[in-house]
Amino acid sequence: MIDMKSLRLRHHQEYRGRFAPSPSGLLHFGSLIAALASYLDAKHNHGQWLVRIEDIDPPREKLGASAEILNTLESYGLNWDEDVLYQSQQSSLYLEVLASLKQQKLSYHCACSRAKIKADGGVYQGHCRKLDLAANNNATRVINAVATSQYHDLIQGEVSCDKKLAGEDFIVRRKDNLFAYQLAVVVDDIYQGISHIIRGCDLLEPTARQLSFYQILNHPAPTFGHFPLAITDEGYKLSKQNNAPAIDAKNPIPSLIAALSFLGQQPPTELNYASVDELLTWAISHWSINNVPKSQEIVL
Ligand code: GLU
Ligand code: ZN
Repeated sequence: MIDMKSLRLRHHQEYRGRFAPSPSGLLHFGSLIAALASYLDAKHNHGQWLVRIEDIDPPREKLGASAEILNTLESYGLNWDEDVLYQSQQSSLYLEVLASLKQQKLSYHCACSRAKIKADGGVYQGHCRKLDLAANNNATRVINAVATSQYHDLIQGEVSCDKKLAGEDFIVRRKDNLFAYQLAVVVDDIYQGISHIIRGCDLLEPTARQLSFYQILNHPAPTFGHFPLAITDEGYKLSKQNNAPAIDAKNPIPSLIAALSFLGQQPPTELNYASVDELLTWAISHWSINNVPKSQEIVL
């Protein structure tokens, strides 16, 4: 059992949701959907909605993106509760969790290259588990004995992931010493007492690993819901990496209405002329997660 004294072990009696953008670019239509869906589900359920900036990967960070993301959220009326948490401020907690894993022999260092893993069939086979390698220039992997591969999703229903991938000993610290997404996201969702995670289907597979990690950390997992990904007609997901156009911070209503209808909510046409607050008030009270399409992708 892992004892992380710094983790406030909040119980999940209250709804606490979150939006967790990486500051690798500005908000595009796909990230607006993530912000809006998590916000509406939280507010419809009288919960708190938090914003966390996932700035653990400085090489991929775009200068000024965090501030612009927060400004855009404000102009879209998506006001968060509590202070914004920046993952770049969380290093000592991540180090504490890593030390605890190591001390309990639940993690090990791994020297395998991507090419080697690919040659072994694309799934990491635990090659370094018994080698007792030193930390220097090596990644750190967690021993994934739990290997969760199935779970219930609020939107997608029963989700089954590839068993081999879900059972991999996954990386919690990269060999360049940066903290891995899987480590930071789970530790912070625990730290912030998050009870519900509503996000896109690009994270269906990582969720299986995250559920394993909650068990390894001996902490109850939140409830997950994954909405379909918005795909361009060329089949690309909208993402900061492929330069999806930023949404217009000065003209929120059309994008909000488009995001609502993407999410299966049907605002009456009068609301085309409403204020942001009127539109969001309607959307909070009429939000129905059951109307969110169950497909994993929708072509725009
Ligand atoms: N920071 C991640 C992203 O922008 C999202 C993480 C999450 O919702 O768990 O893709
Ligand atoms: Zn290895």
